[in-house]
Amino acid sequence: MRRLRIGILDLVTKSPNPSLYGRLMNANLASIMPQVIGVWCEQEGHDVHLVCYTGLEDLLQEMPADLDVIFIGAFTQSAQLSYALSNFFRQRGAVTVLGGPHARCYPEDARKYFDYVLGFTDRTVVAELLRDAGPHRPMGRHLASARQPGDLPTLAERWKFVEATLAKAPTIKIVPMIGSLGCPYTCSFCIDSTVDYQPLSFPQLRDDLSFLLTKMKNPIVGWHDPNFGVRFDDYMEAVESATGPGRMRHIAESSLSLLGEPHLKRLQKNGFQAILPGIESWYDLGNKSKTRRTGMDKVKQVADHVNMILRYIPYIQTNFVLGLDGDQGPEPFELTRKFIDLAPGAFPAYSLLSAFGRAAPMNLDYQRAGRVLPFPFHFLNNNHAMNVRPKHYGWPEFYDGLIDVTSYSFSWRAIARRVPATATMIPKWMNVVRAMSSEGWGRIQYHTMIRSLLDTDRSVRAFMEGDTDELPEFYAARIRRELGDLYQYLPEGALMHDPNAYLHASEMEAPSEPVQLEGRLAGTV
Ligand code: SF4
Repeated sequence: MRRLRIGILDLVTKSPNPSLYGRLMNANLASIMPQVIGVWCEQEGHDVHLVCYTGLEDLLQEMPADLDVIFIGAFTQSAQLSYALSNFFRQRGAVTVLGGPHARCYPEDARKYFDYVLGFTDRTVVAELLRDAGPHRPMGRHLASARQPGDLPTLAERWKFVEATLAKAPTIKIVPMIGSLGCPYTCSFCIDSTVDYQPLSFPQLRDDLSFLLTKMKNPIVGWHDPNFGVRFDDYMEAVESATGPGRMRHIAESSLSLLGEPHLKRLQKNGFQAILPGIESWYDLGNKSKTRRTGMDKVKQVADHVNMILRYIPYIQTNFVLGLDGDQGPEPFELTRKFIDLAPGAFPAYSLLSAFGRAAPMNLDYQRAGRVLPFPFHFLNNNHAMNVRPKHYGWPEFYDGLIDVTSYSFSWRAIARRVPATATMIPKWMNVVRAMSSEGWGRIQYHTMIRSLLDTDRSVRAFMEGDTDELPEFYAARIRRELGDLYQYLPEGALMHDPNAYLHASEMEAPSEPVQLEGRLAGTV
């Protein structure tokens, strides 16, 4: 087989000129799969050039001009950027491949702009793709393995990609690691709820951590597991046997149910510095229970739990989803304000309810009900648009509540109370910078602007009410501005998409099911 020149682009952001927080942290958001694919491509005998796009690179100059194949990994917010890049690289003669969450959520749309669109990807899928490596136009091939890969390359094998990416992080450097895929829980809005929980090799994990200590002093590991610590004892044994106390720090996303006091003591002993549990809502999710729980009871219980966590772990980010069907009236916002008062050390992260294509089965219900709006992908990052019309709120009422709770959470008073409630220096500093940057004040400003447009711009209001599919100039202009020089490469029609593609596909005879490769190779769609 010919030795191919392969580019891999990991898009961790969607536009240039990141905020202060983005400049500090974007390189730490690098995904693991692009690095894994880089290793597999090299093992197949090809040359690889991997770039993590943090918003500071010139994407038109960053890659070698003579690539044969380029893999682009993108979240949905970077979809339009990835479509423009695919067109740009196709014009230079490359075959283009899309992987990552956007490819899994919107394969019907992505196939129009890429030669290959990947679902679950293992080494067999990559090998098959590279054997073919030809253009597939106008509709790309949709390839996937039947399940997530059973094992991944070692940290030593992907180290050169990790090292090059971390060189872009000016201060805090977080090494991406993963010990499990999928989740045993079934939160109906979550992309991992339908993926079987599967731990990776614990001996490999131990070896990876030992290897890391030969490369960095007192490193910080960012665990990419969807839900860290499901096999808690196995994890801790791997960490303890590799590192010993005090030699490594860790950050992980974990559900509150896994964070009881005995676990917290062990996490503290093993250097866990930050933990990100999901609270989601003060009520059960609408389709899980018809009975509303008493919201205030949950607020007090969770606040006590969070305060207890802060006695062991210096930094905690609590994740909320706003606009869920179980929420109505001002109470959910008021309860969140109460939580901020009762747990002043937590940094709250708010996500607007979003239906990302095929990400979750619940999205079919939203699509059937005609509630999914065709906001361009560029705005689908849980904050810049909410693409599901709320069940129990009008838009002005919803945005008033959103602005109120966000302003309360990032007011000078809340910022000042967060400082003494956090024990150590870096977490104190992180909380202040995040609140004053795009994640706090920047969002208040943005949401306030949208609220004002609801009153003053009829095109915005009509679009958000679902009365028209015509994209308001406010959004079109923003994409033009944020894509900059790359906007000229955005293919015709790529600004908009069918928000009900998942429903339409599910009503047909599985026409967009990917070719599944499992031990043997299957034909082309
Ligand atoms: S939200 Fe968290 S706990 Fe629920 S399915 Fe997703 S990863 Fe698992």
